[in-house]
Amino acid sequence: MDLNNNLTTPIQKLSENLNNNSFFIKRDDLFPISFGGNKARKALLFFKDLFAKGSDCIVTYGSSSSNHCRVIANIAAAKGIPCHIISPTKSSSPTSNSKMINLFGATITKCPVSKVSTTIENKINELKLKGFNPYFIQGGGHGDVGTQSYVNVYEEILDYEKSSGVYFDYIFHTSGTGTTQAGLICGKVINGDKREIIGISNARKNPYGGQVVMDSVKSYLSKQHNSSVESNAITFIDDYVLDGYGSYNHSVLLTIRDLLISDGIPVDATYTGKAFWGMKEYIKRNSIFNKKILFIHTGGTPLFFDKLEELRNER
Ligand SMILES: *Cc1c(COP(=O)(O)O)cnc(C)c1O
Repeated sequence: MDLNNNLTTPIQKLSENLNNNSFFIKRDDLFPISFGGNKARKALLFFKDLFAKGSDCIVTYGSSSSNHCRVIANIAAAKGIPCHIISPTKSSSPTSNSKMINLFGATITKCPVSKVSTTIENKINELKLKGFNPYFIQGGGHGDVGTQSYVNVYEEILDYEKSSGVYFDYIFHTSGTGTTQAGLICGKVINGDKREIIGISNARKNPYGGQVVMDSVKSYLSKQHNSSVESNAITFIDDYVLDGYGSYNHSVLLTIRDLLISDGIPVDATYTGKAFWGMKEYIKRNSIFNKKILFIHTGGTPLFFDKLEELRNER
């Protein structure tokens, strides 16, 4: 696996036309490594950083449905790097992601959610005592390296706009642990753009969710650029989180089914399908008409297959 390929993803028009808006989608789910998505984008940069720092094993955490852990375990296996995953016992029923994580030979340590940080610390110390030089990645690929990958995506969007003549008034995407949104906002700030970037939260509520994005933006900008950010720069919408991480309703399932049938694009109930539904509700509620709207498909294809049976029964 070559980590230095310069990989980009396509943007395509959708058949959706709610409120006479034109909808486009950036297919980061097709990012061509390990079923793609934003975690694959982030992971490539994390592994480059790992090798630059001379580390020789990896420690990270996430639940059994974690896209992040799947991608990290896949690249670690490709590179022959031992991969240690700390996983909360609560959400540990088998999924396509967890089955792949096992296939890739990652070492899983389960613990209660409240013990995650001490378990991580213990694991890192244990590895150091054995003579390893561990590289730690926060859950979801959080941190400046993760942010960088979505600054890169923002640049790809600008390239598309230049070559197509289409300008996006709004960029919508699923916002979880915050670096996807932080990267897009940093890209916007660095380029002095005015458009709206709207993160539809799939789990976290404000003020915490939005604050984490803001902290990530500030952290990145202070290290990489001398630009600052206004206190109202983050639009982190928590109106569509339902009962939190992993929860969804009938409307989310219908949205997933409709997009699969109308455009042949799979989205999932935990992240992208939920946010696509949230985006449409937001557009109705805020009376957005006649705009060009880009939705970033941040991946999660294995999660789509986990819900396929349920989708089939949806009417
Ligand atoms: C993790 C994830 C997100 C959220 O990205 P963050 O950078 O954590 O905000 C969105 N979509 C999918 C499919 C994900 O796996």
